[in-house]
Amino acid sequence: MSLNVDKIRDQFPVLHQEVNGRPLVYFDNAATTQKPQSVIDAISGYYKLDNSNIHRGAHTLADRATRYFEDTRAAVKEFINAREDSEIIFTKGTTESINLVASTYGRKFLTKGDEVLISAMEHHSNIVPWQMLCEEKEAVLKIIPVNDQGEIIYDEFEKLLSEKTKILSVIHVSNALGTINPVREMIQAAKKWGAKVFLDGAQSTSHLTIDVQELDCDFLAFSAHKLYGPTGLGILYGKREVLESMPPYQGGGEMIKEVSFEKTTYNDIPFKFEAGTPNIADVIAFKTALDFIREIGKSNIKNHEDELLRYASSSWSEIKGFIPVGIAKDKISVISFNIREMHPFDVGVMLDATGIAVRTGHHCTQPLMQRFGLEGTVRASFSVYNTKSEIDQMTEAVSKIAKIKNK
Ligand code: PLP
Repeated sequence: MSLNVDKIRDQFPVLHQEVNGRPLVYFDNAATTQKPQSVIDAISGYYKLDNSNIHRGAHTLADRATRYFEDTRAAVKEFINAREDSEIIFTKGTTESINLVASTYGRKFLTKGDEVLISAMEHHSNIVPWQMLCEEKEAVLKIIPVNDQGEIIYDEFEKLLSEKTKILSVIHVSNALGTINPVREMIQAAKKWGAKVFLDGAQSTSHLTIDVQELDCDFLAFSAHKLYGPTGLGILYGKREVLESMPPYQGGGEMIKEVSFEKTTYNDIPFKFEAGTPNIADVIAFKTALDFIREIGKSNIKNHEDELLRYASSSWSEIKGFIPVGIAKDKISVISFNIREMHPFDVGVMLDATGIAVRTGHHCTQPLMQRFGLEGTVRASFSVYNTKSEIDQMTEAVSKIAKIKNK
């Protein structure tokens, strides 16, 4: 089915504006997606009608807010096909979800000489928390190398697995290159050695259909703001038995059963990991974002984005001086590139002058950029509301920019 993109665009107020005198072309979706009117309305609707603290009130507003909040948990469970609602924990973002697991599961179960395996294409948020953990526990961080196409070198990955591997934490889809990693096979391989597997789904959940039961990962993290939802809200999925084995992350209200000065007993999952008043408005609004995705259909979104990827890849490869970075066989709709003899930041600024928003720099993947011997790239990332005519505008703009140094 081809999408009615005009109708979809009508739902996004932010897209209908000029930037620097030109219609906005928003190609920075891997950093954050725009929000449909329904999500914006859900946030203000909560504050207008339902604002109340959840889980502990006897009054109608508290009851309503609690119900809406828990409805989102159920919708997230459906979205990733978890077994039960209690396997879904609300956090501030993917970053906090990773930190939560590193500092609870990691601190409890890792000992000296154990190994944590990550890849060379991780986002900093899937490097630094494990690095901190390894330093504290005298464990070893091992890195799966990446080839020139920007793909994990699978043989090397297999060689790195051993009985010492306690955690494999891997990016499902690369934010910097768009590579889709073979995580199903990787999870199975790691499980043979008894490792727990953490998937960074910050980029995959918006493009691919995710089934955590089928994948059999122990943890999955993602951020609402990359899925047409609000900022400051993340999800941590964990298998019940694994979450139950972990100590709490933060102490405070809501995460307890009973408190005395002698001893505190902790609440059941997921509340054990949700200390304090959560981000109620944004959690409630996130259900609307998931409804938006469900109504269009994940596979329709993916087909549209794949078509944009093919179209842009073939148009831009014709441009003299255009150097793609990351040309994996299996990719989502992200194109990272450089223009010969030009700094990516300069290219980004010149594109902005024509109303085109892209991201430039290291994309929070400095080790990956070092692997490619680059300071950074220009990254265009497409979403459901982007069009071929927007790609044509960028083709024209990049061609002009490239000519400055590539006659
Ligand atoms: N992991 C990946 C692959 C990402 O792309 C990002 C954000 O760009 C993150 C983690 C961090 O997400 P957040 O900043 O929402 O916590």
